[in-house]
Parts: sequence; structure tokens; C-alpha cells
Amino acid sequence: EIYVLGSINVDLMFTVDNIPQAGETLHGLDYLENLGGKGLNQVRAMHELGAKVVMLGAVGGDAMGEKVLASLRGWGISDNYIEVMSHVATGLACIIRMRAENRIILHAGANFAMTEKVLSPLLAVKPGGFFLAQLEVPYSLVLMGMKVAKTNGLTTILNLAPARLDVQDILPYVDYLIVNQRELELLTTIYPREEVDVQLAFTQLRQLGLQRLVVTLGAGGVLYVDAYQTIFVPSYRIDAVDTTGAGDAFVGAFVATLAQGSSMKDALYFANAAGAYACLHVGVEQAMGKREDIKAVMKG
Ligand code: ADP
Repeated sequence: EIYVLGSINVDLMFTVDNIPQAGETLHGLDYLENLGGKGLNQVRAMHELGAKVVMLGAVGGDAMGEKVLASLRGWGISDNYIEVMSHVATGLACIIRMRAENRIILHAGANFAMTEKVLSPLLAVKPGGFFLAQLEVPYSLVLMGMKVAKTNGLTTILNLAPARLDVQDILPYVDYLIVNQRELELLTTIYPREEVDVQLAFTQLRQLGLQRLVVTLGAGGVLYVDAYQTIFVPSYRIDAVDTTGAGDAFVGAFVATLAQGSSMKDALYFANAAGAYACLHVGVEQAMGKREDIKAVMKG
């Protein structure tokens, strides 16, 4: 089983051809509502791959929250451990899209209001499972979750997104840290372009107790470093149409493959293809491939 502590958002996406000025009201060109949040996106990526996932998260006691829970159940994802918080809004992202550029206003709502209660399933967990978190929920809960998961014999994965600087306390409990280039730069001041950069960054983080580092390099592929080896996986040469969701697809596929008992190397290769698949599809929902879809990318 894979336990995921993470965010759930409703994305309200307005497409416009102008940004309204103060006091002005404009009609949008188009409106779309989707579910998002890094936590839920990664859960969906893993669910599409047939992984057994338990989502730990929160929604507000509002209509949006009900809608989220109904969608989860519709997809066959359990909502048993989603906290419903009255007096708090469900996480919202207002996305204003103009000429292929996004301006985003976030209201974290329940994602930041959630309490220790969401971690309770981890207290009774059997060893051998996995625990994954990102940082769109309170850091104190992510830290506590990593400690409990590690103590109870789970493999732990932290996707440091959005980036954060003061992570010394959490790294000793993290088996795999996954970051993109900007996140690694914020964390270590090293913007990674090639192997030596990632090795140097790893040396820094290792002193803080980190075991394994996975860095996604966008169209540059993926680099993996631990105390014994460095693995570079080149990206697929594709015509990317929309790279949103690539990171979440990568993380989901990586963890789902590890949880299946595959080697770390196989997980890197498969996740690299899952990231490429995501870039071939517009939107986040469509970005999460099934096993056959991702295998097809690997065959070329
Ligand atoms: P994020 O979405 O978090 O910024 P990246 O841009 O690093 O993450 O993308 C995650 C992964 O998706 C990459 O490591 C790679 O496997 C794949 N990917 C991203 N962009 C491309 C691209 N243009 N071509 C091929 N693969 C890509």
C-alpha cells in the first residue's frame, strides 16, 4: 500500500484575452473546472497504474468538498481518510490563462487547516508499504508523517514541491528525495544541468542525512544519485504540447513502480516515460497515463 499525504484543490480555470484592471469586469473566453493539487494529482497517477493508494488529506465542509469526495469515489479512490473540515473552504486555485501563460491565485483552505488526525492511518500500518508527501500541506505534518512512516517500516518519498529551504530535520527520515531543477537550486543554490551538479548537491544533502536523490531535468531527463552510484536517464525526444503535470506523473509512476517491487532503475525509466507521456497531453487529468500508454512511449 502507498500512503500519500498531500493537497487537494479545485482548479477554476478562466481563459481570457485581457487581465481586468482595478474596477473593471471582463467576460472570460472559456471556463473549466478540474481537480488538482500535487497530492491528488500524484494519487491519480498511481491509481491509473493500478497501485493501491490511500490518500490522506482534507477538504472543506462546502459544496466543493462534496464534489471532490464524489469524484474520488467515482474514480475508485478511497475517501475514507480525507478529513472534512467544517468552517474551512476546500483548497482552490483560480487560474487565469492568457495566451498560454497562467496567473494563479491559491487559497489553501483545508490543505493548510488539516490536523494530526490525518496521519492516524499511519499509526497502525504494516511494514513494507510506502509513504509519499509533497509540501502543499503543513510542513509539521509532513515531518511527523515521515517520522512515523519510517519508524513503522515504510519506504518514504518526499517530493519537495513547492521548494523549501529548512529541511535539515526531515532529510534523515527520507529514503528518496525528488526535486526538479528549480527546487534543487532553492535547496542547495546549485542549478543542476549535468551529473557533477547533482553529485555536488547530493554531497551537501547527504551531510544532512539524505540517502537518495532523484532530480528531474525537464527535457534533460532524470539524474539519480546515492552514496554508491549515479544513474542518468535521458528523456524521450517528443513534441511536448503541455508540460503541466509532468512532475506529478513522474513522481506517481516512480513510486507506483517501486511499490510493485521493481528495481529503482526500472522505476526511474518507467517514470521518465510517464513524464514524457504527460507532456504529450494538455491538462493534468489527461496527463496521467495507464500502463499500456506509458509502455507505448517506451517502445517509441
Ligand atoms: P516539473 O513538472 O516538476 O517541473 P520536470 O519539468 O523536470 O518536472 O519534468 C518531469 C519529468 O517529465 C522529466 O524528468 C522528464 O522525464 C519528463 N519531461 C518533462 N519535460 C519533458 C520534455 N520536454 N520532453 C520529454 N520528457 C519531459
